[in-house]
Amino acid sequence: MSDTIYRNTWVEVDLEAIEYNLQQIKKRISNKTKIIAVVKADGYGHGSVQVAKRAIKAGASALAVALFEEALTLREAEITVPILVLGWVPAKAAPIAAVNNITLTFFQKEWLQEVSTYQLEDKLHVHMKWDTGMGRIGVRTKSELKELLYALNENPSIYLTGVFTHFATADEADMSYFYEQKSRFEEMLKTFTEVWGKPVDVHIGNSASAIRLPEEMYDYIRFGIAMYGLYPSGTVKSERDVELKQAFSLHSRLAHVKKIAAGETVSYGATYKAEKDEWIGTIPIGYGDGWIRKLQGVDVLVNGKRMPIVGRICMDQTMIRLDGEYPIDTKVTLIGKQNSAEIEMDEIAAHAETINYEIPCIINQRVPRLYKNE
Ligand SMILES: *Cc1c(COP(=O)(O)O)cnc(C)c1O
Repeated sequence: MSDTIYRNTWVEVDLEAIEYNLQQIKKRISNKTKIIAVVKADGYGHGSVQVAKRAIKAGASALAVALFEEALTLREAEITVPILVLGWVPAKAAPIAAVNNITLTFFQKEWLQEVSTYQLEDKLHVHMKWDTGMGRIGVRTKSELKELLYALNENPSIYLTGVFTHFATADEADMSYFYEQKSRFEEMLKTFTEVWGKPVDVHIGNSASAIRLPEEMYDYIRFGIAMYGLYPSGTVKSERDVELKQAFSLHSRLAHVKKIAAGETVSYGATYKAEKDEWIGTIPIGYGDGWIRKLQGVDVLVNGKRMPIVGRICMDQTMIRLDGEYPIDTKVTLIGKQNSAEIEMDEIAAHAETINYEIPCIINQRVPRLYKNE
């Protein structure tokens, strides 16, 4: 493929914002707690390699991803810090993980047994996951925990370096279930310490936990969404414990501008009808880019002013109602700032009836990522 970008639609990722957000959380957490920068799903759609490199420069000690392939991508980019794969990985990945010093998450006896059948050239580092109430993956009972520890003891080439859990409601106003999970975790940790004895790293907190309970985070925080400058929830945002800078912005340029007469319609289904003579602009972005049809009606910024999307969003194109005539190539901002105006990720997420996490993830690879302040 050619390096020239012809299309006039792009994402800008401000790497200085990534650094700023990490500094904000570093100021809050205990100086004994280190940071795992979570860069799964290609860095929540921001670009995992670029974000990871900047996060390490800003003081993150390790990285976490969801898939084994995502960890390999980081190693291929010559990133050498510890990488933890948070999700289940097939046992057959173990030899490659060991060679590449990629830490795997485990919680099943069968998994350990299968890994034991492989010749591992290097020690395989693993973290054990405890399900204290998320109901997703992990060991749930003390007897399972003990059984796994006995199995681990049998296999010296598998090296337990951490234990962790994940909270289901750390971002909610009602913290009761959070504390229930936390006390289950402490119970498990007690049993673990009694049986195992050897030191391991302990981590429990995502962004919401780290922001709200910075002193209770053990050895690491797993810092994801807030590193990208997005609050984990409306509740956490309204508490204003940290000031974050949104790193992701989405832009396009007017590809076509025309005046339509009152009564004329725009886009599929002819559902939008001009009430009076109107200026309509067309921008080259659509649901084929992840700019989903549900975003019909949301505002974009032109010349620092809000203008609405009108008519149905097409696969590759979207129409907006302008407040006058603008030249072709005028910049249109769909997410982010123009002058003093801003469309936050949260506004787009609310319109799409989802959470901010989902939006940068669904803006797909068809939209090039450009990096600011690299
Ligand atoms: C995604 C993920 C995180 C990061 O969560 P944020 O809310 O984005 O900070 C932490 N831990 C686990 C297990 C995860 O899957």
